[in-house]
Amino acid sequence: MRRSHDEIAKMRKAGRVVGEMHEATRAAARPGVTTAQLDQAARAVLDRRGARSNFLGYHGFPAVICTSPNAMVVHGIPGPLRLVEGDIVSIDCGAIVEGYHADAAFTMGIGEVDLVAEKLMRVTEESLWAGIAQMQPGHRLHDIGLAVQTVAEGAGFSVVREYVGHGIGTAMHEDPQVPNYWPGRPGPMLKSGMVLAVEPMVNAGGAETILLDDHWSVVTADGSLSAHFEHTIAVTDDGPEVLTLSG
Ligand code: MG
Ligand code: MG
Repeated sequence: MRRSHDEIAKMRKAGRVVGEMHEATRAAARPGVTTAQLDQAARAVLDRRGARSNFLGYHGFPAVICTSPNAMVVHGIPGPLRLVEGDIVSIDCGAIVEGYHADAAFTMGIGEVDLVAEKLMRVTEESLWAGIAQMQPGHRLHDIGLAVQTVAEGAGFSVVREYVGHGIGTAMHEDPQVPNYWPGRPGPMLKSGMVLAVEPMVNAGGAETILLDDHWSVVTADGSLSAHFEHTIAVTDDGPEVLTLSG
């Protein structure tokens, strides 16, 4: 699907709201704060901006953000869990403005974190930017995953296979799927106007994941740390435009 300038302008507005949700949750996240309080901080941004949540009620999801600490990969439900010094937490936020969606995630440390956690977060974010750099007209879709995988595995980490990025527009999850690894074929040509959510999930240990009994929370099978960074990005004739930057 190729989006018009007007459509991308609306997604830019939604992306700005998501960027503000990132700022608000990042500012709120510190030792002793619950993940439910992070959800409240994100809700306040949606309310202030008159934006709707694309997470709340999605297949019954009960919150406006996902909060995934430590060995949790993605889709954690905000609740009474209190963050403690040394944790890392992945915070995934989304918003709808004028019918158009944006979706972005980051992982942060709570106070001081150990060197492996620090490296995992840095490498995962770098892998996202390496993927974004491939989003040029004429490149192929799976150039993105190859670039992500090369950075993540080059640092000795592994890339989650079961969960992938996605097209985004008038729904949060549209075609195509955007794997964070080379799937064995180049995939379709990238064209100006395509908008994708690229979202590497990188594990310090093995790539395997387990779905917990709440049917949402995904954790690493080996209990190793996991990080998640995501942006919503438009392919344009001038190169990739990240729509979910904050500030
Ligand atoms: Mg997301
Ligand atoms: Mg996403």
